[in-house]
Amino acid sequence: MKPKIWLSSPHMCGLEQTYIKEAFDTNWVAPLGPNVNGFENDLQQYLNQDVEVAALASGTSALHLSLILLGIGQGDEVICQSKTFSASANPIVYQGATPVFVDSERETWNMCPVLLEDAIKDRISKGKTPKAIIAVHLYGMPYKVKDIHAVAKAYNIPVIEDSAESLGSHYKGQNCGTFGDLAILSFNGNKIITTSGGGALVTRTIEDKQKAVFLATQARDKAPHYQHSHIGYNYRMSNIVAGIGRGQMTILDSHVAKRRSNHALYSKTFKEIEQITFLEEPEGHFSNRWLSCILLDSRGTREDLRLALEKENIESRPLWKPMHQQPVFKDSPSFINGVSDDLFDRGLCLPSGSNLSDEELNRVISTINMYFAV
Ligand SMILES: *Cc1c(COP(=O)(O)O)cnc(C)c1O
Repeated sequence: MKPKIWLSSPHMCGLEQTYIKEAFDTNWVAPLGPNVNGFENDLQQYLNQDVEVAALASGTSALHLSLILLGIGQGDEVICQSKTFSASANPIVYQGATPVFVDSERETWNMCPVLLEDAIKDRISKGKTPKAIIAVHLYGMPYKVKDIHAVAKAYNIPVIEDSAESLGSHYKGQNCGTFGDLAILSFNGNKIITTSGGGALVTRTIEDKQKAVFLATQARDKAPHYQHSHIGYNYRMSNIVAGIGRGQMTILDSHVAKRRSNHALYSKTFKEIEQITFLEEPEGHFSNRWLSCILLDSRGTREDLRLALEKENIESRPLWKPMHQQPVFKDSPSFINGVSDDLFDRGLCLPSGSNLSDEELNRVISTINMYFAV
Protein backbone atom coordinates (compact mmCIF):
# COMPACT_ATOMS: atom_id res chain seq x y z
CA MET A 1 0.00 0.00 0.00
CA LYS A 2 1.28 3.44 -0.92
CA PRO A 3 1.76 5.88 2.00
CA LYS A 4 -1.38 7.77 3.03
CA ILE A 5 -1.94 11.30 1.72
CA TRP A 6 -4.07 13.27 4.18
CA LEU A 7 -6.63 15.96 3.45
CA SER A 8 -5.06 18.44 5.84
CA SER A 9 -2.54 17.49 8.51
CA PRO A 10 -0.63 19.43 11.20
CA HIS A 11 2.51 21.20 9.98
CA MET A 12 4.94 22.21 12.71
CA CYS A 13 7.90 24.54 12.21
CA GLY A 14 10.07 23.47 15.19
CA LEU A 15 9.78 26.64 17.23
CA GLU A 16 6.69 25.22 18.97
CA GLN A 17 8.95 22.99 21.12
CA THR A 18 10.98 26.00 22.28
CA TYR A 19 7.88 27.66 23.71
CA ILE A 20 6.69 24.40 25.25
CA LYS A 21 10.11 23.85 26.85
CA GLU A 22 10.00 27.38 28.25
CA ALA A 23 6.65 26.58 29.84
CA PHE A 24 8.09 23.45 31.47
CA ASP A 25 11.31 25.20 32.55
CA THR A 26 9.34 27.95 34.30
CA ASN A 27 6.61 25.55 35.51
CA TRP A 28 3.80 27.44 33.78
CA VAL A 29 1.89 24.19 33.28
CA ALA A 30 -1.58 25.67 33.71
CA PRO A 31 -4.43 27.31 31.79
CA LEU A 32 -2.68 30.68 32.09
CA GLY A 33 0.83 31.99 31.67
CA PRO A 34 3.24 33.81 29.33
CA ASN A 35 2.42 31.67 26.29
CA VAL A 36 -1.31 32.36 26.62
CA ASN A 37 -0.65 36.10 26.80
CA GLY A 38 1.97 35.89 24.05
CA PHE A 39 -0.28 33.93 21.70
CA GLU A 40 -3.13 36.40 22.26
CA ASN A 41 -0.77 39.28 21.46
CA ASP A 42 0.49 37.53 18.31
CA LEU A 43 -3.08 37.03 17.08
CA GLN A 44 -4.06 40.59 17.90
CA GLN A 45 -1.01 41.92 16.01
CA TYR A 46 -1.75 39.67 13.06
CA LEU A 47 -5.41 40.66 12.79
CA ASN A 48 -4.12 44.22 12.96
CA GLN A 49 -7.45 45.83 13.68
CA ASP A 50 -8.89 47.33 16.80
CA VAL A 51 -9.72 43.96 18.42
CA GLU A 52 -9.03 41.97 21.58
CA VAL A 53 -8.32 38.23 21.60
CA ALA A 54 -9.11 35.62 24.28
CA ALA A 55 -7.39 32.24 23.79
CA LEU A 56 -9.79 29.39 24.57
CA ALA A 57 -10.01 25.61 24.61
CA SER A 58 -11.67 25.40 21.17
CA GLY A 59 -13.51 27.28 18.47
CA THR A 60 -16.70 25.66 19.71
CA SER A 61 -16.23 27.09 23.21
CA ALA A 62 -15.57 30.50 21.64
CA LEU A 63 -18.90 30.26 19.78
CA HIS A 64 -20.66 29.20 22.99
CA LEU A 65 -19.24 32.18 24.90
CA SER A 66 -20.20 34.51 22.01
CA LEU A 67 -23.83 33.48 22.39
CA ILE A 68 -23.66 33.94 26.17
CA LEU A 69 -22.11 37.41 25.78
CA LEU A 70 -24.98 38.34 23.46
CA GLY A 71 -27.47 37.19 26.10
CA ILE A 72 -28.95 34.37 24.02
CA GLY A 73 -31.02 31.87 25.97
CA GLN A 74 -34.05 29.63 26.18
CA GLY A 75 -36.56 30.16 23.37
CA ASP A 76 -34.44 32.59 21.34
CA GLU A 77 -33.76 32.08 17.65
CA VAL A 78 -30.32 32.41 16.05
CA ILE A 79 -29.75 32.43 12.29
CA CYS A 80 -26.90 30.19 11.15
CA GLN A 81 -25.37 29.43 7.76
CA SER A 82 -26.63 25.99 6.74
CA LYS A 83 -23.53 25.05 4.77
CA THR A 84 -21.01 24.64 7.57
CA PHE A 85 -19.54 22.25 10.11
CA SER A 86 -21.96 21.29 12.91
CA ALA A 87 -19.82 23.13 15.49
CA SER A 88 -21.18 26.45 14.10
CA ALA A 89 -24.71 25.47 15.12
CA ASN A 90 -24.37 23.21 18.19
CA PRO A 91 -23.71 26.00 20.73
CA ILE A 92 -27.09 27.57 19.81
CA VAL A 93 -28.68 24.43 21.20
CA TYR A 94 -26.38 24.43 24.28
CA GLN A 95 -28.11 27.73 25.15
CA GLY A 96 -31.60 26.30 24.74
CA ALA A 97 -32.10 28.46 21.63
CA THR A 98 -33.27 27.36 18.15
CA PRO A 99 -31.08 27.54 15.04
CA VAL A 100 -32.69 28.92 11.89
CA PHE A 101 -30.71 27.82 8.84
CA VAL A 102 -30.06 29.95 5.77
CA ASP A 103 -28.72 28.57 2.49
CA SER A 104 -25.78 29.78 0.37
CA GLU A 105 -25.12 31.81 -2.77
CA ARG A 106 -22.90 30.51 -5.59
CA GLU A 107 -20.14 33.16 -5.64
CA THR A 108 -18.59 32.35 -2.24
CA TRP A 109 -20.65 29.29 -1.16
CA ASN A 110 -21.52 31.19 2.02
CA MET A 111 -24.74 32.65 3.45
CA CYS A 112 -26.94 34.27 0.79
CA PRO A 113 -27.71 37.87 1.81
CA VAL A 114 -31.03 37.91 -0.09
CA LEU A 115 -32.23 34.73 1.60
CA LEU A 116 -30.96 36.08 4.93
CA GLU A 117 -33.25 39.06 4.62
CA ASP A 118 -36.20 36.82 3.62
CA ALA A 119 -35.52 34.70 6.70
CA ILE A 120 -35.36 37.69 9.05
CA LYS A 121 -38.62 39.12 7.65
CA ASP A 122 -40.35 35.76 7.98
CA ARG A 123 -39.22 35.26 11.57
CA ILE A 124 -40.20 38.82 12.54
CA SER A 125 -43.65 38.28 11.00
CA LYS A 126 -43.98 35.27 13.32
CA GLY A 127 -43.01 37.37 16.34
CA LYS A 128 -39.51 35.88 16.57
CA THR A 129 -36.86 38.49 15.85
CA PRO A 130 -33.55 36.59 15.48
CA LYS A 131 -31.09 37.44 18.27
CA ALA A 132 -27.88 36.85 16.28
CA ILE A 133 -26.53 35.75 12.90
CA ILE A 134 -23.70 33.22 12.61
CA ALA A 135 -21.98 33.69 9.23
CA VAL A 136 -19.09 31.48 8.12
CA HIS A 137 -16.14 32.03 5.75
CA LEU A 138 -16.22 28.46 4.48
CA TYR A 139 -12.97 26.80 3.36
CA GLY A 140 -11.31 30.20 3.87
CA MET A 141 -13.43 32.07 1.31
CA PRO A 142 -14.76 35.31 2.82
CA TYR A 143 -18.55 35.56 2.75
CA LYS A 144 -20.15 38.63 1.13
CA VAL A 145 -19.15 40.79 4.05
CA LYS A 146 -20.63 44.08 2.84
CA ASP A 147 -24.04 42.60 1.92
CA ILE A 148 -24.41 40.34 4.96
CA HIS A 149 -23.46 43.08 7.40
CA ALA A 150 -25.75 45.60 5.65
CA VAL A 151 -28.73 43.27 6.19
CA ALA A 152 -27.71 42.62 9.80
CA LYS A 153 -27.38 46.34 10.44
CA ALA A 154 -30.73 47.16 8.84
CA TYR A 155 -32.44 44.88 11.37
CA ASN A 156 -30.04 45.66 14.21
CA ILE A 157 -28.99 42.02 14.69
CA PRO A 158 -25.42 41.27 15.87
CA VAL A 159 -23.16 39.06 13.70
CA ILE A 160 -20.97 36.30 15.08
CA GLU A 161 -18.27 35.77 12.47
CA ASP A 162 -17.22 32.11 12.34
CA SER A 163 -13.65 32.52 11.11
CA ALA A 164 -12.55 29.01 12.15
CA GLU A 165 -11.43 28.16 8.62
CA SER A 166 -10.29 31.60 7.49
CA LEU A 167 -7.35 32.85 9.53
CA GLY A 168 -5.15 34.53 6.90
CA SER A 169 -8.05 35.38 4.57
CA HIS A 170 -9.12 38.95 3.95
CA TYR A 171 -11.92 40.96 2.36
CA LYS A 172 -11.12 44.32 0.73
CA GLY A 173 -7.82 44.33 2.62
CA GLN A 174 -9.36 43.73 6.06
CA ASN A 175 -8.63 40.45 7.84
CA CYS A 176 -11.31 37.84 8.39
CA GLY A 177 -11.95 37.59 12.11
CA THR A 178 -12.38 41.37 12.49
CA PHE A 179 -15.79 41.95 10.89
CA GLY A 180 -18.27 40.50 13.37
CA ASP A 181 -19.55 42.02 16.59
CA LEU A 182 -17.76 38.92 17.86
CA ALA A 183 -15.60 36.49 15.88
CA ILE A 184 -14.14 33.07 16.54
CA LEU A 185 -11.00 31.23 15.42
CA SER A 186 -10.11 27.54 15.62
CA PHE A 187 -6.74 25.83 15.99
CA ASN A 188 -7.98 22.25 15.73
CA GLY A 189 -5.71 19.59 14.26
CA ASN A 190 -6.62 20.13 10.61
CA LYS A 191 -6.94 23.92 10.53
CA ILE A 192 -4.46 26.25 8.79
CA ILE A 193 -2.50 26.54 12.02
CA THR A 194 -3.06 24.15 14.88
CA THR A 195 -2.36 23.94 18.59
CA SER A 196 -3.58 20.28 18.59
CA GLY A 197 -6.87 21.69 19.87
CA GLY A 198 -7.76 25.26 20.68
CA GLY A 199 -9.62 28.36 19.63
CA ALA A 200 -10.03 32.05 20.28
CA LEU A 201 -12.72 34.65 20.71
CA VAL A 202 -12.14 38.00 19.02
CA THR A 203 -13.96 40.91 20.65
CA ARG A 204 -14.26 44.62 19.86
CA THR A 205 -13.83 45.79 23.45
CA ILE A 206 -11.56 44.88 26.35
CA GLU A 207 -14.70 44.61 28.52
CA ASP A 208 -16.08 41.81 26.33
CA LYS A 209 -12.73 40.01 26.44
CA GLN A 210 -12.63 40.31 30.22
CA LYS A 211 -16.19 38.96 30.50
CA ALA A 212 -15.27 36.03 28.24
CA VAL A 213 -12.14 35.19 30.24
CA PHE A 214 -14.14 35.47 33.49
CA LEU A 215 -16.74 32.99 32.21
CA ALA A 216 -14.03 30.74 30.72
CA THR A 217 -12.30 30.41 34.11
CA GLN A 218 -15.30 29.25 36.19
CA ALA A 219 -16.73 32.74 36.83
CA ARG A 220 -14.96 33.34 40.14
CA ASP A 221 -16.02 36.52 41.93
CA LYS A 222 -13.28 38.65 43.51
CA ALA A 223 -12.96 37.04 46.95
CA PRO A 224 -10.27 35.12 48.87
CA HIS A 225 -12.55 32.07 48.93
CA TYR A 226 -14.32 30.57 45.94
CA GLN A 227 -17.47 32.54 45.34
CA HIS A 228 -19.73 32.49 42.29
CA SER A 229 -22.59 34.70 41.16
CA HIS A 230 -22.64 33.29 37.60
CA ILE A 231 -22.46 29.87 35.99
CA GLY A 232 -18.89 29.44 34.78
CA TYR A 233 -17.08 27.28 32.24
CA ASN A 234 -13.64 25.70 32.01
CA TYR A 235 -12.84 27.03 28.53
CA ARG A 236 -9.44 28.72 28.87
CA MET A 237 -6.48 27.63 26.73
CA SER A 238 -3.59 25.81 28.40
CA ASN A 239 -0.19 27.51 28.50
CA ILE A 240 1.38 24.41 26.87
CA VAL A 241 -1.05 24.48 23.98
CA ALA A 242 -0.55 28.25 23.60
CA GLY A 243 3.18 27.57 23.17
CA ILE A 244 2.38 25.54 20.06
CA GLY A 245 0.27 28.48 18.87
CA ARG A 246 3.14 30.97 19.29
CA GLY A 247 5.37 28.77 17.16
CA GLN A 248 2.66 28.33 14.54
CA MET A 249 2.07 32.08 14.24
CA THR A 250 5.61 32.50 12.90
CA ILE A 251 4.75 30.44 9.81
CA LEU A 252 1.08 31.31 9.26
CA ASP A 253 1.77 33.44 6.18
CA SER A 254 3.89 30.74 4.54
CA HIS A 255 1.12 28.19 5.27
CA VAL A 256 -1.36 30.47 3.49
CA ALA A 257 1.01 30.87 0.52
CA LYS A 258 1.51 27.11 0.20
CA ARG A 259 -2.22 26.32 0.46
CA ARG A 260 -2.93 28.93 -2.19
CA SER A 261 -0.25 27.44 -4.42
CA ASN A 262 -1.80 23.96 -4.01
CA HIS A 263 -5.11 25.39 -5.17
CA ALA A 264 -3.50 27.24 -8.08
CA LEU A 265 -1.71 24.06 -9.17
CA TYR A 266 -4.92 21.98 -9.11
CA SER A 267 -6.88 24.62 -10.97
CA LYS A 268 -4.21 25.05 -13.65
CA THR A 269 -3.72 21.30 -14.06
CA PHE A 270 -7.40 20.40 -14.36
CA LYS A 271 -8.37 23.34 -16.57
CA GLU A 272 -8.95 21.08 -19.56
CA ILE A 273 -11.12 18.58 -17.70
CA GLU A 274 -14.62 19.83 -18.36
CA GLN A 275 -16.22 17.79 -15.54
CA ILE A 276 -14.20 19.77 -12.95
CA THR A 277 -14.81 23.38 -11.89
CA PHE A 278 -13.33 25.58 -9.15
CA LEU A 279 -14.58 28.42 -6.96
CA GLU A 280 -12.93 31.65 -8.15
CA GLU A 281 -12.20 34.52 -5.79
CA PRO A 282 -14.75 37.30 -6.41
CA GLU A 283 -13.23 40.78 -6.51
CA GLY A 284 -12.01 41.90 -3.10
CA HIS A 285 -12.09 38.37 -1.68
CA PHE A 286 -8.76 36.79 -0.70
CA SER A 287 -9.07 33.16 0.46
CA ASN A 288 -6.43 31.31 2.47
CA ARG A 289 -7.61 28.28 0.42
CA TRP A 290 -7.68 26.24 3.61
CA LEU A 291 -9.08 23.34 1.59
CA SER A 292 -8.87 23.01 -2.19
CA CYS A 293 -12.38 22.12 -3.36
CA ILE A 294 -13.59 21.02 -6.77
CA LEU A 295 -17.09 20.62 -8.18
CA LEU A 296 -17.76 17.62 -10.40
CA ASP A 297 -20.52 17.33 -13.02
CA SER A 298 -22.65 14.97 -10.90
CA ARG A 299 -22.91 13.27 -7.53
CA GLY A 300 -22.02 9.99 -9.24
CA THR A 301 -18.74 11.33 -10.65
CA ARG A 302 -17.92 12.88 -7.29
CA GLU A 303 -18.37 9.59 -5.44
CA ASP A 304 -16.55 7.53 -8.10
CA LEU A 305 -13.60 9.92 -8.01
CA ARG A 306 -13.52 9.84 -4.21
CA LEU A 307 -13.35 6.04 -4.33
CA ALA A 308 -10.64 6.13 -7.02
CA LEU A 309 -8.55 8.37 -4.77
CA GLU A 310 -9.25 6.18 -1.73
CA LYS A 311 -7.97 3.17 -3.67
CA GLU A 312 -4.65 5.03 -4.03
CA ASN A 313 -4.69 5.73 -0.27
CA ILE A 314 -5.47 9.42 -0.89
CA GLU A 315 -7.94 11.07 1.47
CA SER A 316 -10.60 13.34 -0.04
CA ARG A 317 -13.99 14.36 1.36
CA PRO A 318 -17.36 15.62 0.14
CA LEU A 319 -18.06 19.26 1.03
CA TRP A 320 -19.84 19.90 4.36
CA LYS A 321 -23.29 18.32 4.48
CA PRO A 322 -25.70 21.23 5.07
CA MET A 323 -27.18 21.52 8.55
CA HIS A 324 -30.75 21.50 7.23
CA GLN A 325 -30.03 17.96 5.94
CA GLN A 326 -28.66 16.75 9.29
CA PRO A 327 -30.95 14.39 11.23
CA VAL A 328 -30.26 16.26 14.48
CA PHE A 329 -31.56 19.56 13.02
CA LYS A 330 -34.47 18.15 10.99
CA ASP A 331 -37.06 20.16 12.96
CA SER A 332 -35.24 23.52 12.74
CA PRO A 333 -36.71 26.23 10.52
CA SER A 334 -34.66 26.61 7.35
CA PHE A 335 -34.58 28.82 4.27
CA ILE A 336 -33.39 26.78 1.32
CA ASN A 337 -32.59 27.61 -2.30
CA GLY A 338 -30.89 24.37 -3.38
CA VAL A 339 -27.33 25.76 -3.57
CA SER A 340 -25.82 24.00 -0.56
CA ASP A 341 -27.57 20.73 -1.47
CA ASP A 342 -26.03 20.91 -4.94
CA LEU A 343 -22.57 21.78 -3.56
CA PHE A 344 -22.83 18.82 -1.19
CA ASP A 345 -23.78 16.50 -4.07
CA ARG A 346 -21.03 17.57 -6.46
CA GLY A 347 -18.22 18.96 -4.29
CA LEU A 348 -15.03 17.26 -3.20
CA CYS A 349 -12.17 18.53 -0.99
CA LEU A 350 -8.75 17.44 -2.22
CA PRO A 351 -5.55 17.04 -0.16
CA SER A 352 -4.66 20.61 0.77
CA GLY A 353 -2.02 20.59 3.53
CA SER A 354 0.83 23.10 3.64
CA ASN A 355 3.16 20.12 4.14
CA LEU A 356 2.30 18.27 0.91
CA SER A 357 5.38 17.38 -1.11
CA ASP A 358 5.61 17.72 -4.89
CA GLU A 359 5.62 13.94 -5.09
CA GLU A 360 2.38 13.72 -3.09
CA LEU A 361 0.70 16.42 -5.18
CA ASN A 362 1.78 14.55 -8.31
CA ARG A 363 0.20 11.36 -7.00
CA VAL A 364 -3.11 13.18 -6.45
CA ILE A 365 -2.94 14.81 -9.88
CA SER A 366 -2.06 11.67 -11.78
CA THR A 367 -4.83 9.70 -10.02
CA ILE A 368 -7.38 12.32 -11.09
CA ASN A 369 -5.95 12.55 -14.62
CA MET A 370 -6.07 8.77 -14.87
CA TYR A 371 -9.70 8.72 -13.70
CA PHE A 372 -10.67 11.11 -16.47
CA ALA A 373 -8.21 9.33 -18.82
CA VAL A 374 -6.46 12.56 -19.77
C1 LIG B 1 -13.43 23.73 13.05
C2 LIG B 1 -14.64 24.55 12.99
C3 LIG B 1 -15.30 24.99 14.15
C4 LIG B 1 -14.99 24.47 15.53
O1 LIG B 1 -13.73 24.69 16.00
P1 LIG B 1 -13.10 23.66 17.07
O2 LIG B 1 -11.84 24.35 17.47
O3 LIG B 1 -12.88 22.37 16.37
O4 LIG B 1 -14.06 23.57 18.21
C5 LIG B 1 -16.37 25.85 14.01
N1 LIG B 1 -16.79 26.26 12.80
C6 LIG B 1 -16.20 25.86 11.68
C7 LIG B 1 -16.69 26.37 10.37
C8 LIG B 1 -15.12 24.97 11.72
O5 LIG B 1 -14.56 24.53 10.58
